[in-house]
Amino acid sequence: MFMAIWTKIVGSAVGALLGALLRVAGGHFWNKRQSPTAEGMPDKELAFLRRIFGLSPKVFAHIFVDRSRRSPNFSSRRDTPIDMVVIHCTNMDSWDSAIVRLCNPVSEVSSHYVIAQDGRIFGLVDEAKRAWHARVAEWQGQSHINDRSLEIELDYPGHRAGLQPYPEAQIFALIALLRDIRVRHDIPAQNVLGHEDVAPGRKVDPGENFPWQRLIEAGVAARG
Ligand SMILES: [Zn+2]
Repeated sequence: MFMAIWTKIVGSAVGALLGALLRVAGGHFWNKRQSPTAEGMPDKELAFLRRIFGLSPKVFAHIFVDRSRRSPNFSSRRDTPIDMVVIHCTNMDSWDSAIVRLCNPVSEVSSHYVIAQDGRIFGLVDEAKRAWHARVAEWQGQSHINDRSLEIELDYPGHRAGLQPYPEAQIFALIALLRDIRVRHDIPAQNVLGHEDVAPGRKVDPGENFPWQRLIEAGVAARG
């Protein structure tokens, strides 16, 4: 009798663990088959995978892009290849309010990606489309930056929150995303820029606290 109860308890625990593993692994491979970046894996399962396999956001960030929030603010690109990445910060209180604004047709602004402070990456606009951001920007005599760039917004409140350092998890995720983008589009490291570089005097983001040196050490930027 006692043994039977034990067998039942152990059996159902093992069953639950196996079931969860299969579901997570199945979803992971299914998503991978669908596109190079798995889409919208729920936080709970992601946290579970990280715990079980001891993987850091550094490993996972480039795999998971949440595409559950989409922006209507985009148009077709001109016939120019994507050869630039422009990094911004939101200067807003939360990633959620930033995404609401970037997905609101009235705002007429958008970004291909938003990276939350905890390292979650949201994909709002397909890379093949032109997001609306650096509108009157210019770089080395070239205008129409939007036609050749991918835009990344970092969830960061800037001076509103006393200019805190950018969180580790967010920078890990940014580096992973930049590696992924640069491989796919063959973007030179010196073309990974800040909004302040393409709109000097008008824009100051991602700002004085942005760790360019980390990106340079990781080989994903070459800004002086
Ligand atoms: Zn900006």
